[in-house]
Amino acid sequence: MPGFADRLEPFLPHITVRADEALSRHTRFGLGGPAAYLIDVGAPTVLPALLAELRTWGLPLITLGGGSNLVVADEGFPGIVLRFTGKDIRCHDGLTTAQTGLLWQNLVDFHTALALGGMEKMTGIPGWFGGALYGNAGAYGQTIMDFVLSVDVFDGQGFCTIPREDCGFAYRTSGFKRHKDWILLSATMHLAPGDGPALAATAEQILATRNEKFPPTMKCAGSIFKNPHAAALPEAVLSRVPPPIIRSGKIPSAWFLEQVGSKGMRRGGIEVASYHANLIYNNGTGTAAEVCSLIDELKARVLAEFGFTLEEEVQYVGFSSRPSY
Ligand SMILES: Cc1cc2nc3c(=O)[nH]c(=O)nc-3n(C[C@H](O)[C@H](O)[C@H](O)COP(=O)(O)OP(=O)(O)OC[C@H]3O[C@@H](n4cnc5c(N)ncnc54)[C@H](O)[C@@H]3O)c2cc1C
Repeated sequence: MPGFADRLEPFLPHITVRADEALSRHTRFGLGGPAAYLIDVGAPTVLPALLAELRTWGLPLITLGGGSNLVVADEGFPGIVLRFTGKDIRCHDGLTTAQTGLLWQNLVDFHTALALGGMEKMTGIPGWFGGALYGNAGAYGQTIMDFVLSVDVFDGQGFCTIPREDCGFAYRTSGFKRHKDWILLSATMHLAPGDGPALAATAEQILATRNEKFPPTMKCAGSIFKNPHAAALPEAVLSRVPPPIIRSGKIPSAWFLEQVGSKGMRRGGIEVASYHANLIYNNGTGTAAEVCSLIDELKARVLAEFGFTLEEEVQYVGFSSRPSY
């Protein structure tokens, strides 16, 4: 293994290391050049010594999960991508503690099987539990912040537990976005007892709907833009939005995008779905540059027509000129 990686020998029972690893293999968009190193860590206990070693390499370091909410640059990421892959899950006295490397759907299925309700409508969201915590994922009126009580993190120096009230959860965001050097490790949550068969039926129905909207093989990142809060928009904009469009105080970005003709727009191998104006996908030949070009064009059209700027829900990796939200 080239470069620094031989210095990781002492950690090898607990980590896997890949040098010059194409991130397109680890993102749902199927886009992104190589990371200098991709390191998967299964045990939290090695993190203090591992991070101390990695810091001596002088390379930038980021933590990723299942790669379902990312646009990674074609040039890749010239540093270390770390993924925490611990998947333990325990339920005791009505509280569940799960590690963040767990596939989100496994967490949903676990609770549905125990007839515990509160996340069944979030069935089918791709990615891992860690990414869902980071972005306060949600669907059909349920969100992470409804049931998470605390989050365990490694903050670069040590381990600490952040109570929910300090997690900064809000619509598709969390305070963890201000601590990009933190590694989310596990979280404890409380779900309410429910009717098992009814929960399973809801999950099944939602999964069927989602699979139509987002075919499982579609190379995409889900919704590209967040839905703006109606209260944050000027009256001149609001007066143009048909009232039934406003749901839970938010207006679907897709509505604005549809008004500016986004459906079916295309840049090379990247397309806006013909049936959903806030869904951009890679037809298999696209590049991250084309995704960015299309995103910029959509934002510019909405700004020109409505006078405000849509905010991305997707996270950028490896771009110097793009913010990470
Ligand atoms: C088809 C499709 C449908 C989707 N539908 C929905 C939906 O209905 N609702 C919704 O909310 N989202 C949706 N998404 C977006 C995405 O699935 C979620 O945001 C998901 O929770 C991201 O998890 P991930 O593990 O893939 O995170 P990644 O994409 O790997 O990372 C996302 C962000 O989380 C950070 N992160 C991940 N893990 C950690 C960790 N352990 N510690 C610190 N930071 C971490 C990363 O740095 C990055 O900034 C959809 C995506 C797709 C492709």
